[in-house]
Amino acid sequence: MKQVVATALALLLALFLLPLLLVPQGEHMLPVESGSLPIDRTVVTPKPSLDSTRQVVVQQTDGTVETMALDDYLWGVVAAEMPAAFQPEALKAQAVAARTYTLGKMRRDTPAHPEADVCTDVNCCQAYRTQQEAAAGWGDNAQRYTGKITAAVADTDGLAVLYQGQPIQAVFFSSADGRTVDAVEVWGNTVPYLTGVDSPEGEEVPNYHSTVTVSLEDFKTKLCTQYPTADLTGEPSKWFSNTVPNSAGGVSSVDIGGVSVSGQDLRTLFGLRSTSFTITATSQAITFSVTGYGHGVGMSQYGANALAQEGKTFKEILTWYYTGVEIAVYTP
Ligand SMILES: [Zn+2]
Repeated sequence: MKQVVATALALLLALFLLPLLLVPQGEHMLPVESGSLPIDRTVVTPKPSLDSTRQVVVQQTDGTVETMALDDYLWGVVAAEMPAAFQPEALKAQAVAARTYTLGKMRRDTPAHPEADVCTDVNCCQAYRTQQEAAAGWGDNAQRYTGKITAAVADTDGLAVLYQGQPIQAVFFSSADGRTVDAVEVWGNTVPYLTGVDSPEGEEVPNYHSTVTVSLEDFKTKLCTQYPTADLTGEPSKWFSNTVPNSAGGVSSVDIGGVSVSGQDLRTLFGLRSTSFTITATSQAITFSVTGYGHGVGMSQYGANALAQEGKTFKEILTWYYTGVEIAVYTP
């Protein structure tokens, strides 16, 4: 097959270049040396990227399963997971994190979708957008943003975040309140490369501070469903005591009505954007004042963008958030 292609190319080149050679040389002509015609196929055929040679099986939201090249899939993930206006180095860090996550998924079955390596459900795997969907959301910036995402994937071709030679669980989230959270504090198991580190983002993050206000009745109902022994009588401001901070300064646990409740549970029960919050109680309502967005473990996306603005490369960003790792090509 390759020989046929090479022969065809050589013939084509001969057809097009021969008349040029026969024309007398003028000053408008490019000098063509007959001894160095580019007929070698290693010159005329660009080397395919690693990502384009790997196939990933993706389950769409409607349940259909599609096989696509890894670079095409990663394009859709980066476009869906990170604002395209972010710095190029932050987008590259996101591309490597997405590739790492995907390569990890390709190595083992996922019970939720045994037929597919990954799915497009953000609650299961990673978010995903087609180029058309992304372009529709980008409006006038579509062409520029499309190019930025393409470059972020291509410029990091094949690279993954490895710990002891294996792809890591490259988890990420939107924004931190000054520090990331140690994995053990969120999921209960120690992961050596998911330790808490400083994270430099701040007020530039949209909705960095948010509040959730819950009526006393709703608060009691929701809390007592999960913690039936909590004593929610008397003055609401007296219900809360003994707040235990986590390593990132958020809430590890707080005693409510004499029962210890984890910050994680409060986040889930009341739809808080993170576990970094304070609680205010009045006679009418309970208010959570929250900073940052996400579980807080691994790479902060807004933090990655802030580091890129400081001049850090994608490798520096990734090794900042994932401790003790190396960034290298992973061959399964
Ligand atoms: Zn999935």
